[in-house]
Amino acid sequence: MKTFVELGINDDILKSLLSLGFEDPTPVQSQVIPLMLEQQVDLVALAQTGTGKTAAFGIPLIQLTDSRSRKTQSLILCPTRELCMQVAGDLAVFSKFIKGLNVLPIYGGSSIDQQIRALRKGVQIIVATPGRLNDLIKRGRVDISAVQCVVFDEADEMLQMGFQEELNAILAQTPAEKNTWLFSATMSKEVKSISRRYMSDPVELTIGRMNAGAENVRHDYYMVHIGNRYPALKRIVDNSPDNYSIIFCRTRRETNEVASKLIQDGYNADALHGELTQAQRDQVMKKFRSKNLQILVATDVAARGLDVNDLTHVINFNLPDDAASYTHRSGRTGRAGRTGISVALVLAKERYKIRQIEKNLKKKFKQCRIPTGQEVCKNQLVSLVDVVTKVEVDHEQIDPLYTEIAEKFAHLDREELIKKFVSREFNRFLEYYKYAPDLNVSEKAQRRPVKTGQPRRESYSSGGDKQQFTRFFLNVGRRDGVMPQGLLGKINDASGIGRIKVGKIDIMRNSVLLEAESRFTPQILDAFQHMTINGKTVSIEVARENRGASRPKAGGKRVSKGRRFNKAA
Ligand code: AMP
Repeated sequence: MKTFVELGINDDILKSLLSLGFEDPTPVQSQVIPLMLEQQVDLVALAQTGTGKTAAFGIPLIQLTDSRSRKTQSLILCPTRELCMQVAGDLAVFSKFIKGLNVLPIYGGSSIDQQIRALRKGVQIIVATPGRLNDLIKRGRVDISAVQCVVFDEADEMLQMGFQEELNAILAQTPAEKNTWLFSATMSKEVKSISRRYMSDPVELTIGRMNAGAENVRHDYYMVHIGNRYPALKRIVDNSPDNYSIIFCRTRRETNEVASKLIQDGYNADALHGELTQAQRDQVMKKFRSKNLQILVATDVAARGLDVNDLTHVINFNLPDDAASYTHRSGRTGRAGRTGISVALVLAKERYKIRQIEKNLKKKFKQCRIPTGQEVCKNQLVSLVDVVTKVEVDHEQIDPLYTEIAEKFAHLDREELIKKFVSREFNRFLEYYKYAPDLNVSEKAQRRPVKTGQPRRESYSSGGDKQQFTRFFLNVGRRDGVMPQGLLGKINDASGIGRIKVGKIDIMRNSVLLEAESRFTPQILDAFQHMTINGKTVSIEVARENRGASRPKAGGKRVSKGRRFNKAA
């Protein structure tokens, strides 16, 4: 493998690469940089984000720029404001030792006057989103008639977002004699048509395989029952205590719902979707980039241009409709040489989507078991012990207090002390997962053919016992105005499941005993946990008799005597 020096990069740029800690070129850089420096050609490069493609086109562009001339010599077009800022920022860093070289990002949603003023000073490299650049062209505020190189970054995204018309208008302003370089993660029909239309005999490079997912991404899928997506998601997140992830949803509503539930359940999560204002978007992204936010729940469109390097997981709460979107989603992990995991939650009837994506990626998914409550707890415990082992002790502050602390703990032996500390941190998990059912879809249900268009009446069996009911105890009752219909409605709405079978409901003066299907225990606990009924905060627990103790006294009126009824969805 060649070094940066051997690729022909000049000293000023080498100095900045060194300051960034770039030691060796990435594969896309090794292939693209010498080609661009030595030959005046058009290029179509299929490269995922995270492969170092910004430096691959940015370095030769900078090196070929005449910084003594004030004319705009290069134009980079990006699909989103975020990518535009990112690319311009990277290029500014690569060129920081070159006097007089100006790089300007031009994007919508910020002051056009400021951008006009900056353009007047003379900008050699413009990085722009098509909409705003086109606007400036129409106002006669930007001159791209001397451009020698145009780069389409993430061309597939740009076309998918419907920028074709703007691109035509922009390219009409550039000279016929120029180089055009196109970078794309996927070779879509639209990308092919752009290369045919605007490029002459381009060199084609595929870095990694055609349409392949990032090389160091593992693809896992979990088979779930329709009502279990959220609890399964929680298990997966809980099972990897260090996770830093994006959860992809299909709609704004789903994004909001998942984010709200996670927040309610105590996770450090937030939502990113199209309804947010630009300022709110920026704030969420900033929090996520700086890792003050651990989980970002997003739609595909909203996550465009979000560039984060060390995601541990990309989670497909719902699979996208097309395989190319999956490639984009999963390419957000496993970047800059790191490994990553792309996870999909799928229903039995969605298995065909996995097969389609596998074909597109030319990679196999691994079907995984949803971890049991016990497995999650064990993993959390190991991680807690790891964290505690690595905690740095500030001896200066702690040592003077130590004698007093030791005295207070004197009556506890080592084992008892460890158990107490661990429980202090850990009881929330132990409590939540105590009665957690197996969420895996049985082998039989997985093989069962699915008639599309017809909701299935039978449900997946967990542990093989379809009829098993659990009794729940709620701290609200008749006095709080609780009615059976209301309880059913709450289960239906809050759990989002709609098909939980409910058994007997005893409504007493101050409490309720409610029977419902055991396999939905986590969802039912979840559904009521943060609820208020007529101003009173509800607490719900599995009634003691389920734990082998006696049942709380039922001093109330039995509302539905022994009647079992199916909840309508
Ligand atoms: P990109 O594909 O351009 O978004 O780059 C992904 C990440 O890799 C960015 O954070 C870059 O700073 C980093 N990167 C790019 N080239 C190198 C290199 N040669 N060595 C180390 N990191 C790199």
